[in-house]
Amino acid sequence: MRTVYVNGDYLPENEAKVSIFDRGFLMADGVYEVTSVLDGKLIDFAGHAKRLERSLRELDMPHPVVLPDLLDIHRELVRLNEINEGMIYLQITRGAPDDRDFVFPDPETTKPTVVLFTQNKPGLADSPAARKGIKVISIEDQRWARRDIKTVQLLFPSMGKMMAKAAGADDAWMVEDGHVTEGTSNNAYIVKGSTIITRHLGNEILHGITRAAVLRFAREAQMQVEERSFTIAEAQAADEAFITSASTFVMPVVEIDGAPVGKGTPGSVAARLREIYLDESRKAAV
Ligand code: PMP
Repeated sequence: MRTVYVNGDYLPENEAKVSIFDRGFLMADGVYEVTSVLDGKLIDFAGHAKRLERSLRELDMPHPVVLPDLLDIHRELVRLNEINEGMIYLQITRGAPDDRDFVFPDPETTKPTVVLFTQNKPGLADSPAARKGIKVISIEDQRWARRDIKTVQLLFPSMGKMMAKAAGADDAWMVEDGHVTEGTSNNAYIVKGSTIITRHLGNEILHGITRAAVLRFAREAQMQVEERSFTIAEAQAADEAFITSASTFVMPVVEIDGAPVGKGTPGSVAARLREIYLDESRKAAV
């Protein structure tokens, strides 16, 4: 049984409780982060902590945990649950007032709810999917307009994964005004020649922590990077495609809406970026 963290306590998962009035539960009024663990260490913890701060600030939510404590909680959960490879999920909601109300509760009297738990995933880095590549379908992006804030409002992405599954694919790329925004839980990329193309930052997509690291490593390796939007047709005609996220790292995409990308097998640019990302991230892990 897992040991989880709730509002200052480490508890067995079946003893951890949150109020039915919690605004995360009633209104999706909460934010989250997922940090990977490799070799028992946290990958890009600083990046995730920084984005968490931004998400909270954008929603006028007080930050309930100072950075060193946040790191200690992550590490303690890794230790208690003996995680070598896996993820730490963190969620902070606006807390549980006495009743349901659209108006935000007074932060002085209603404290945020802080929950963290581990997910043990042996083989996360040496993934068979990374050798095979994944298939995606395209769907219309029907999420709200502030996708740059990492809220727990994940119903549409969840529906998107179900649509992909029903179509025999692994994931969906969401399209708005004819252009790909991102995957249901990852950022989307194509490769043309030696140029890596991924959508520019804005409120339309989550500013992926893995995206930032991968683009930095790509530029350091003298690869060309273009931050601009692209269409599904351009992606289908590209030499390669891939996604990034904290839990998939760099994952090749070999098929889009039934059409093979390039040779229909994982490309060399994605493979190289995955290798660089894993090497560098392991070195910098804390
Ligand atoms: N976009 C969306 C919609 C996501 O949910 C995620 C993963 N949480 C990402 C992109 C990738 O972000 P990161 O690299 O920080 O995991």
